[in-house]
Amino acid sequence: MVRTRFAPSPTGYLHVGGLRTALYSYLYAKKNNGKFILRIEDTDQKRFVEGALEHLIKMMKWAGLDYDEGPDKAGEFGPYIQSKRTELYKKYAQELLDKKAAYRCFCTQERLDEMRAHQEKQKKTPMYDRHCLYLSDEEIQKKLDEGIPFVIRQKIPSSEVVKFDDHIRGKVSFAGKTLDDQVLLKSDGYPTYHLANVVDDHLMEITHVIRGEEWLPSTPKHILLYKAFGWEPPQFAHIPLLLNKDRSKLSKRQGDVSVEDYIKKDYLKEAIINFIAFLGWHPGEAEENEIFTLEELSSKFTLEKVHKSGAIFDIKKLDWFNWQWNRKNLHEKLKKIATEIDPNVLIENPKKGEFVYKFNNEKAKQTFLGKRAQTILKLCEEYLDKKYKINPELLNKALITVEEKILRNPREINSFIDFYFEIENYEKALLTNEKMKVDEEMAKTALKKSLATLANLDNFNSEDKIKEVLLNLVKQMSVKNGQVLWPLRSALTGKQFSPGVFEVAFVLGKEKTINRIKKALSKLENQ
Ligand code: GLU
Repeated sequence: MVRTRFAPSPTGYLHVGGLRTALYSYLYAKKNNGKFILRIEDTDQKRFVEGALEHLIKMMKWAGLDYDEGPDKAGEFGPYIQSKRTELYKKYAQELLDKKAAYRCFCTQERLDEMRAHQEKQKKTPMYDRHCLYLSDEEIQKKLDEGIPFVIRQKIPSSEVVKFDDHIRGKVSFAGKTLDDQVLLKSDGYPTYHLANVVDDHLMEITHVIRGEEWLPSTPKHILLYKAFGWEPPQFAHIPLLLNKDRSKLSKRQGDVSVEDYIKKDYLKEAIINFIAFLGWHPGEAEENEIFTLEELSSKFTLEKVHKSGAIFDIKKLDWFNWQWNRKNLHEKLKKIATEIDPNVLIENPKKGEFVYKFNNEKAKQTFLGKRAQTILKLCEEYLDKKYKINPELLNKALITVEEKILRNPREINSFIDFYFEIENYEKALLTNEKMKVDEEMAKTALKKSLATLANLDNFNSEDKIKEVLLNLVKQMSVKNGQVLWPLRSALTGKQFSPGVFEVAFVLGKEKTINRIKKALSKLENQ
């Protein structure tokens, strides 16, 4: 049975790379009907952070990465916290000593520092010089009797070449002579990462070790340990590094790296998970959809589709996932609302992710629009300037025209709708547009004729009607749509970008529409 694990060192926060490792390990286990284990690697007591364990557990629960065994979920192979397993590691370190696969090292920190400085001066990779490997049994006994503190080091067979198959990186090999005689047990009796990790992966019957590429150089040492113990090593999959946009290693300097930061910024959980899953993985060419729930991801995930090269952490992509998820959630709610109002409503999906609701009676349509506005309002209410609530009817209509923008960026709500309430004092240049062949004369004519047309229109309650009369006007004038609609839209909004002119006129209503056109005309006439 497949057994994977997430083995974090509790640091007090969850790095986005950590979440990805946890996610891939979880997905792989689920896909293969296996078990997913949470193991806490906290043997570095210097790095102890109060509350870090609880925090990690909370984050795993938040993400929905349910583990089958873990610190708070009993299993056959517990405890799942390394600091509670220290006696075990001592026993296994002794076994390595007995097998001559490890040795005691009595070197003082001073000697090690000198040795390192010397090696650095000679431009050599710093490595333990095996001084204590050559101590005689008598010398060792003497030092032990004197109570000199010691560490236990792994004895790397220098002539060996360690080879293994990595699920992502393919065939990998390391020459023994490049590997350091790693400390396995520290003088305080605590194991290092290497010993504890190997012992636990073996005892906990882990079949697949899925971890970040930064651990790849440790793997040959681990394989040698498995060999020394006479154990079968698990399979390995080293997932690519996370990179900044400039392809440097993902760092705090260029943006947030902890998952908590993104939660604080109101990114949806589903969007974060979806985004993280796609950092270095894609279900394949044939798959166009990228919006998946955790469950869907579990059914699609394979290690073969994990990329070899580094994955760029692009916030824009996270924004995109967040938008898509907001949209998906909104439309799920709207579908329910629509069918409650009218079971015969026609819901069309003309463009991927976009929905059109067709009611065959006006009353149902109006009820739906009211509820739709309320649903959109919920998405942005906390950011909405209270002053816009004074006119709820206008607000409701306005919200519907900027729905997609709110889904993308609810924090910006005020700048999306402000013009409906109050128009800025814009430059008259906004009314012209060289590309669209709208000079001041054209703008003036277009606005004058639009004014007359709209002043004549009694039924301002229909967006379709507004559209019809304006397009007729364009036809009559034998000009291009933009030559009339650009100056008109600018006059009504005072903005370079806004929703379309027909819906804006409809939301503003006749009086405001007429007044704004007059104001624009006076700008063109007076200056
Ligand atoms: N404790 C290591 C970490 O913090 C685990 C590495 C591994 O998965 O082997 O990432």
